[in-house]
Amino acid sequence: MPWQPPPTEKCTVCAKSVYAAERLEAGKKIFHKLCFKCAVCRMTLTVQNYHQSDGVLFCKKHFQENVVHPNTQVVS
Ligand SMILES: [Zn+2]
Ligand SMILES: [Zn+2]
Repeated sequence: MPWQPPPTEKCTVCAKSVYAAERLEAGKKIFHKLCFKCAVCRMTLTVQNYHQSDGVLFCKKHFQENVVHPNTQVVS
């Protein structure tokens, strides 16, 4: 049997390979450190202050605006 490298983990945001130096794990999902930011304002997040909904990351403010109290449209 030829040696097989272990499957490379993929970033939840950009779907590209994640290597150890840039790996960040949150909520059992894998991210690049550089991809771990709010989908609205691109603010860099940490595992202490991030929020997520369906794999989309938000800062506290935009999580409130887009997920908890969406004021432009109702998501059913
Ligand atoms: Zn990424
Ligand atoms: Zn934000």
